[in-house]
Amino acid sequence: RAKDIGRNGFQLYSPAMNARSFERLSMESALRHALVRNQFRLVYQVKVDLISGRMSGVEALIRWHHPESGLIPPTEFIPLAENMGVISEIGEWVLREACRQCRHWLDLGLPPVRIAVNVSALQFHETDIPDVVGRALRDTALPPQFLELELTESVLMQRVDEVAEVLRDLRTMGVRISIDDFGTGYSSLSYLKKMPIDALKVDRSFIHDIFNETGSVADEGASIVSTIINLAHNLKLKAIAEGVETIAQADFLRARGCDEVQGFLVSRPVSGEDLISLFDRNLLPAGTEM
Ligand code: C2E
Ligand code: MG
Ligand code: MG
Ligand code: MG
Repeated sequence: RAKDIGRNGFQLYSPAMNARSFERLSMESALRHALVRNQFRLVYQVKVDLISGRMSGVEALIRWHHPESGLIPPTEFIPLAENMGVISEIGEWVLREACRQCRHWLDLGLPPVRIAVNVSALQFHETDIPDVVGRALRDTALPPQFLELELTESVLMQRVDEVAEVLRDLRTMGVRISIDDFGTGYSSLSYLKKMPIDALKVDRSFIHDIFNETGSVADEGASIVSTIINLAHNLKLKAIAEGVETIAQADFLRARGCDEVQGFLVSRPVSGEDLISLFDRNLLPAGTEM
């Protein structure tokens, strides 16, 4: 193990580790410049209403086009950006770009749709979010009811009263709040009840576990999903399922009263341009039982 090897010195500086720390260092310096070098893009994934089959919203997801390494997924660089202290700057860019794009769709005369933006816990705690959001909305002339913020449970676990107050400020402005990857964190139900939020997004790992390999319902997996949907509804929140890949999953979720789905079954994340063809039509594939 690295720790044991490290204690007797020399192996710490093995060529392999040197290469890896070099890679990390060069990725850090590239990330530091990515914003001014215009290397970030947003892609958009639709959320669909399970009753009407219509687009109910979109989620903005960041992409980094690294000049040498190509496309780097957010799961790799967002944690790095958090460690480097640049996440709030990147997060503010995402917010503005998403608002600008949503305003553009409105200006094209497309049916109004709400845009969801992921906000990292670190960004939430180290910046004045209502102020940042307010400026982004004003500068892009986007009405607040078209913006939603996706926060993870980790946001709800620290400084509960302060967080609740910030969320109240945002909702007073007209901005919606949803809890992302719900069920994977450790938020307590008593905190959840106190939080002014609008929706729970059931984490995709739970959606994956509704059915087992043979395609039959996995009792435990299915009951966890049903329980989260019921919890959301009992708290007067919407239930949204992420990572929906099959018709069977969509049918199960509809039968359990889930409100909206998001996932490869409907669409992968696409460019703002490509999203235009998804407005104003039934997006649930033929075969889902309506
Ligand atoms: P998330 O917010 O939970 O986003 C959903 C992720 O699931 C996206 O991955 C999306 O492409 C993927 N996904 C959607 N449908 C399916 C499906 O049917 N099957 C599977 N297997 N995956 C599906 P992505 O874009 O790689 O983003 C990963 C995570 O990175 C996001 O999870 C979010 O936590 C973070 N992230 C992405 N964009 C941003 C951003 O602008 N700011 C911050 N702070 N975090 C971001
Ligand atoms: Mg999200
Ligand atoms: Mg999620
Ligand atoms: Mg997730």
